[in-house]
Amino acid sequence: MLQQRKITLDEKEIPTHWYNIVADMKNKPLPPLHPATHQPIGPEALAPLFPMALIEQEVSTEKWIEIPDEVRNFYSIWRPTPMFRALGLEKALGTQSKIYYKYEGVSPAGSHKPNTAIPQAYYNYKEGVKKICTETGAGQWGSALSFACKLFGIDCEVFMVKVSYEGKPYRKVMMNTWGARVHASPSDLTNAGRSILAKDPKSPGSLGIAISEAVEVAATHDDTKYSLGSVLNHVLMHQTVIGLEAKKQMEKAGDYPDIVIAPFGGGSNFAGITFPFLQDKLVDGKKVRAIAVEPTSCPKLTRGEFRYDFGDTVGMTPLIPMYTLGHNFIPSPIHAGGLRYHGAGAIISQLLKDGIVEADAINQIECFEAGMLFSRTEGVIPAPEANHAIAEVVRQTKQADKEGVSKTILFNLCGHGNFDLSAYEQFLSGKLIDFEVSQEDINKSLAELDTPAIA
Ligand SMILES: *Cc1c(COP(=O)(O)O)cnc(C)c1O
Repeated sequence: MLQQRKITLDEKEIPTHWYNIVADMKNKPLPPLHPATHQPIGPEALAPLFPMALIEQEVSTEKWIEIPDEVRNFYSIWRPTPMFRALGLEKALGTQSKIYYKYEGVSPAGSHKPNTAIPQAYYNYKEGVKKICTETGAGQWGSALSFACKLFGIDCEVFMVKVSYEGKPYRKVMMNTWGARVHASPSDLTNAGRSILAKDPKSPGSLGIAISEAVEVAATHDDTKYSLGSVLNHVLMHQTVIGLEAKKQMEKAGDYPDIVIAPFGGGSNFAGITFPFLQDKLVDGKKVRAIAVEPTSCPKLTRGEFRYDFGDTVGMTPLIPMYTLGHNFIPSPIHAGGLRYHGAGAIISQLLKDGIVEADAINQIECFEAGMLFSRTEGVIPAPEANHAIAEVVRQTKQADKEGVSKTILFNLCGHGNFDLSAYEQFLSGKLIDFEVSQEDINKSLAELDTPAIA
């Protein structure tokens, strides 16, 4: 008999509400602070950058927030996404444990990012916004937002980190195909960009610099807003459609995970798959573990400090309470571009501090080895970011086998790697190298912070 591999849901089972974990947190996330006065900011301080509906979600403590029909309607282009039992991977590992994965690479942009791009474009459209500005690293967020803006007839302008703009042309073509304008960052279009170029005309750019540029354009134009693809509370909440569907699918499979694993950049796909399970932990005391996996080259969760820091490089955003390596930290050029961000979000940082979630850091060669094994046993070529989750799955199954126990493990396959084949080419030709950050570099970057510490 055919063993069940694929667990699907009906279109009617697309979630009707997003889950807001803040409602169930005993220690609420600390408030953001004004960048100059260091006083807590109110929702009105964010009004130049975001539409009111998203600001309300950002500060909401309501447990369930209804997903508008127009958003569910566009979600149905690719949602519900499939879940798979990784029978091939289990066999190759010779493990007693069961491995499941939720596959978010079926979206038009190839990752989980449209889950938040669509509602963000929708709320901007509802409030009459004409243009949205954003930044993108390797191009995954920029392409998701370009796609979403086109659906609602909004102009989209993207500041793309220069090394990626030059090295990853296909993501740029995707954005152009969906009608967005794309600039290499740092650019000479903003004060932020010009100030960086004055210091270093050859600057390769960074996510933090590109954020500064996009925020500046939004803050200085009345009809333009800004949009962020990770880190913020409302972004994490939009992604909970992943975990809400996954819970139903696990139920259909007659199972429940002991461990839920996802890669960690700013926390959105990790939040998306884990928060609905953490609800069971926070409310009913279930013993589910949630593990966030970061690269050793950008280890904010495992080696960063919990303190207030800026979301960008120039220091224009509010101060966010987060595990951070410092906003001037420039990570090594690993291939998992989506994981090269200096900080984590306020919610995840609080959950980590309270021991509700765990973190691990893994080198990129171990990640690509796991990604290769996955491609050859399950088919999909994973995004380099997703390889971090797979490498952790391998670690966890080995640990369980050593202890002689069987675990049920669920991980998020947050995107496919079809645009990242140059990274696979490097791996296959033995040219991929590991980067470990020295404690000296971390100390140096943190010492540059003059933002308030957290008691
Ligand atoms: C953007 C991205 C990430 C990292 O961002 P999170 O907000 O931490 O999810 C990871 N994987 C993929 C495929 C991405 O596009």
